[in-house]
Amino acid sequence: MNDATPQFSTRAIHAGQEFDPTTGAVIPPVYFTTTFVQDGIGGFRGGYEYARGGNPTRTALQELLASLEGGHAAFSFASGLAAEDALLRALLAPGQHVLMGNDVYGGTHRLVSRVFVPWGVSLSTVDMSDLDAVRAAIRPDATTVVWIETPSNPLMKITDIAAVAQIAHEVGATVVVDNTFASPYLQQPLALGADAVIHSTTKYLGGHSDVLGGAVILKEAELAEKVGFLQFGVGAVSGPMDAWLTIRGIKTLAVRMDRHTANAQAIAERLVGHPKLSAVYYPGLPDHPGHELAASQMSGFGGMLSVQLADGATARRFAESTKLFQLAESLGGVESLVCYPAEMTHASVRGTELEVSTSVVRLSVGIEDVGDLTDDLLATLDAL
Ligand code: PLP
Repeated sequence: MNDATPQFSTRAIHAGQEFDPTTGAVIPPVYFTTTFVQDGIGGFRGGYEYARGGNPTRTALQELLASLEGGHAAFSFASGLAAEDALLRALLAPGQHVLMGNDVYGGTHRLVSRVFVPWGVSLSTVDMSDLDAVRAAIRPDATTVVWIETPSNPLMKITDIAAVAQIAHEVGATVVVDNTFASPYLQQPLALGADAVIHSTTKYLGGHSDVLGGAVILKEAELAEKVGFLQFGVGAVSGPMDAWLTIRGIKTLAVRMDRHTANAQAIAERLVGHPKLSAVYYPGLPDHPGHELAASQMSGFGGMLSVQLADGATARRFAESTKLFQLAESLGGVESLVCYPAEMTHASVRGTELEVSTSVVRLSVGIEDVGDLTDDLLATLDAL
């Protein structure tokens, strides 16, 4: 490699992944240890003392994530929500206000409304794709965190990260982007003006539906220090095997995302205008309201799409009848999944303004043969 910064696909395979200097093993070992021998009291080798504070396998994942998101530092956690919790604790104090997109992941809303609000934080939600509404919802004396999820879940709304960051920064708020749906391969929020990125690495980064995890990536050292302290001081760290599985998944992120995107685009185009569907939500479709913005802010439209059926009963039947698309929570794995958000991923926000229509079904398009996937969906629709 020359001195120029390697491209994304190269970094996905090599950043933080130097071969083992002792044996030459190409794949760095998984460090199954909780503690580290000291050369005399305080004589730490490589800074390692105890695994909650640091483990080389976790360090390798964190260096990789920081490189891919273009951040100052990254911290990995036992789940996406644990990552969100650490970041929010670092940013918030009682009396402060969180402004959140009105269609973020239900669990993110539940975390703030059921854990941080009782602690004295206030929360309001807004359509982040409406910049005037964002301006009006910001409380100049109290808004500390502006939380964006784009593309959003499950309607794939697109938020202008740079524009919202500018509005938020005018009042000194920190801009957080949940980059789970796009992955760093398709979207680089820190370069667009965000201060922090969070991931459920459970999804596209892990990529194989076999490991739960989360990450926070920070642009600046000051916030990184606070989150790093909370990772150690609160302790929801990722274990070495989880970190290693996530690293292994990330190596193929670029090729997987290309295939997820191509498959989702082809399926969305095939489903548009289908008589059993009243809407197809996919940012790669030219009439999607966020299409232009997504085209400029992302380098591809991703593998997630949602469809709207005639009513709740029909949508339920569709979600329960596909064969290749398996009915399950989660997304971003190589295998295609179908989800009924109203009673699955978004059940916790029923009765709030984040409630999802009962006639919407979400598809996580995998990397199987696109003809097989399309046939599965069309046959299921035909049979409804
Ligand atoms: N953010 C998004 C967009 C998600 O879809 C999820 C989980 O579904 C999370 C965050 C939470 O991550 P985890 O389930 O790993 O805690």
